[in-house]
Amino acid sequence: MILPNDLGRQFSLYAAEYEQKAVEVLRSGWYVLGREVAAFEEEWAAYTGARYCVGLASGLDALWIAFRLLGVGAKDEVIVSANAYIACVMGITINGARPVFVEPDEYDNLDAEKIEAALTPRTKAILAVHLYGQTCEMDRIMEIAGRHGLAVVEDCAQSHGSTWKGRQAGSFGQIGCFSFYPTKGCGAFGDGGCIVTDDEALANACRTFRNYGSSRRYHNEVVGTNSRLDELQAGLLRVKLRHLDELNAERSRLAEGYRQGIRNPAVRLPMVRGEAVSTWHQFVVHCRRRDALMEHLAAQGVGSQIHYPIPPHLSEAYRYLGYQPGDYPIAERFAGEVLSLPMYNGMTAAEQRQVIDAVNAFEETEP
Ligand SMILES: *Cc1c(COP(=O)(O)O)cnc(C)c1O
Repeated sequence: MILPNDLGRQFSLYAAEYEQKAVEVLRSGWYVLGREVAAFEEEWAAYTGARYCVGLASGLDALWIAFRLLGVGAKDEVIVSANAYIACVMGITINGARPVFVEPDEYDNLDAEKIEAALTPRTKAILAVHLYGQTCEMDRIMEIAGRHGLAVVEDCAQSHGSTWKGRQAGSFGQIGCFSFYPTKGCGAFGDGGCIVTDDEALANACRTFRNYGSSRRYHNEVVGTNSRLDELQAGLLRVKLRHLDELNAERSRLAEGYRQGIRNPAVRLPMVRGEAVSTWHQFVVHCRRRDALMEHLAAQGVGSQIHYPIPPHLSEAYRYLGYQPGDYPIAERFAGEVLSLPMYNGMTAAEQRQVIDAVNAFEETEP
């Protein structure tokens, strides 16, 4: 059985380095907010081209803390793509703000053309989610935001190292939010996240906020939270960051293998804009008979996943927003036709061949 994702593989690629770092941190006697976190923050800021990075406990924390620091809360509205991950929407609603959904385009990202029609006097920000590893059209989004005085937050959880016109995801908006959940490009071995920003005041406010609102021990300036990246994760992330470009290049080769190998009129390959370099967090195909394709693949020993089967506006959690099926027909159609093929570092050519053959055999074998 080929798994949709096999996290053991990426560990074994650099196992000795991770093991050495883990022991080093364990023996150091210092486990939360120490020199590994400080070093990682500097290295991640340098990698993304931002001036500051602040380590946090998760990607969701990065999102809601970003909106909190930008003063986006009750009665405010935030634009977000209707096919985004549920965490993107929770990052907005935790502060009491309301998500305003905008349909995705055929690149599976926020359709910039439809943003302006969704703006109201209450709109305060745009959350640009770079889904599946492909960046949104950032120059258009920044231009619209500038014209309407809106903040831009980027959700880069799936786009570690992705670029738009040669510039890193996370370096366009006021704040870029990252998750280091194990499945993400630069995934940790547990939970983690961070924000990046060029704004020193925002970075300082985030450092204070993540640690009970305290920048000096036992002096609490604001009601903050506990959202700290730990030393072990930061140390392991520093190891992985050294290899991130290789890991992204490997997934890019796998994506190219799929693009060259899959020949099936029933299966639409993912589209990538010429200005974007995707890091292929997921390789997502569209298929009108998606559930049949998924079953067919499973019967051939190929696991696959759906990202995501229920669009946030129809999720039970957001029933209070009052949406109905049919309100976002494109996102709803996507939820019924997207399928993520196996994509992970350490995948072999033989495994990929098996996936490609199984995809190409779909329908030919159907009654
Ligand atoms: C994973 C993810 C998040 C949430 O990150 P966590 O670290 O799991 O909290 C947010 N947005 C997107 C797009 C994600 O993929």
